[in-house]
Amino acid sequence: MYTAHPLRYENGMQYNRCGQSGVLLPKVSLGFWHNFGGVDPYERSREITRYAFDHGITHFDLANNYGPPYGSAEETFGRLMDDDFRPYRDELFISTKAGYDMWPGPYGNWGSRKYLMASLDQSLKRMHLDYVDLFYSHRYDPETPLDETLQALVDVVRAGKALYVGISRWPLEATRTAFEYLRERDVPCLIYQGRLNLLDREPQREGILDLCREAGVGFISFSPLAQGLLTDRYLGGIPEQSRMSKGKTLRPDMLTDELLGQLKAWNAEAASHGETLAEMALRWVLQQGVTSVLVGASSTAQLQENLKCVGLRG
Ligand code: NDP
Repeated sequence: MYTAHPLRYENGMQYNRCGQSGVLLPKVSLGFWHNFGGVDPYERSREITRYAFDHGITHFDLANNYGPPYGSAEETFGRLMDDDFRPYRDELFISTKAGYDMWPGPYGNWGSRKYLMASLDQSLKRMHLDYVDLFYSHRYDPETPLDETLQALVDVVRAGKALYVGISRWPLEATRTAFEYLRERDVPCLIYQGRLNLLDREPQREGILDLCREAGVGFISFSPLAQGLLTDRYLGGIPEQSRMSKGKTLRPDMLTDELLGQLKAWNAEAASHGETLAEMALRWVLQQGVTSVLVGASSTAQLQENLKCVGLRG
């Protein structure tokens, strides 16, 4: 039986207002892309999630295809709800997404109303939830009319299956259109999810971050540690069991000598301030005015280190 830490909101976590909404999100949120699938040990996923909630992390981010296999991170989450978190449902802000390939055939991918509606229904079943707090279009679909995708987002809110909607990885002009469309229908876009970290500053260059600020929409940064590159994980080689050793979303050829040199220089800079590289990298993202950094972790020790960026120690 799990009882959440009684001091979970008094141990230092800070919360940022998400754009001009009523929602506050923790400065550090937890993502379920890796480490929560059917291939991962349930007890470890459970320990990380408990640790997160006990330290004020109220926002958990999922997607239909997180795993592996696809769907299994949501199933893990459903089990966690049953085992530990049901009494805390109203303290949690849970997101899921649809946009990438999920099931075979023409209706299991991209941005049609057909796909988004069916996918959210499936996600709710896997997660053992009546509704999610936030539903995202996971990517821009150049073939489907924007209005179709956006109206599906409006309608999932109207149907009570999501409280808020967001978009992820949409290009600038389509994002502008989305913000306007959704606002005009009284379902304002809550948040944009994009990758911003010391190695990838595209949302700043492209103007997405400025647009969010002007439109009163939040911004949450995924992969703020560049999948572990911006930590000490690879400074002395490629450890067994690391994400890079699995070679799927982070491949050894990405770690060029030039990049390794840059990482070592940043690591030395962080050390000179008494910080770790992970701490410095996360603090940098938060300083860019984002709502939250959306970290991943394969152990509670990693999460513990990452929480130092908001001053949580221990
Ligand atoms: P990070 O950049 O935080 O990378 C997390 C990985 O880095 C961990 O799994 C671990 O890898 C390593 N790591 C984390 N902390 C430490 C540490 N302190 N010391 C050493 N290594 C560390 O984020 P993710 O790439 O995992 O993405 C986070 C979330 O963002 C996802 O779970 C998902 O929710 C979301 N996301 C959304 C996308 C979108 O398209 N909207 C795309 C990608 C992610 P290891 O396994 O090697 O231990």
